[in-house]
Amino acid sequence: MGFKAKARKHRKDADKDAKKTKASTREGELSCGVKGCDKFADKSHGGRSLSVDDAIDMWGSGGYTPRKGRVRICKSCYRKWKKENKNEDMY
Ligand SMILES: [Zn+2]
Repeated sequence: MGFKAKARKHRKDADKDAKKTKASTREGELSCGVKGCDKFADKSHGGRSLSVDDAIDMWGSGGYTPRKGRVRICKSCYRKWKKENKNEDMY
């Protein structure tokens, strides 16, 4: 009897962990560094990282959240940034 109760408790914990992992792989782990944007900036989601200087040019110094000296941004924010910075890409 005691053994059964123990086994059930263990299984419950395992379920909880599995759920956690599933959610994070589906949703992505890195959120976009642009304020007001709640998309994901993971590489698997097409995210990119910009330098802080690039982010300031585009979103202003309070409009983004830096991470280790870079700003992780989602695919659509990167597209917006690229559009604005087309000229620099030309040469
Ligand atoms: Zn974004």
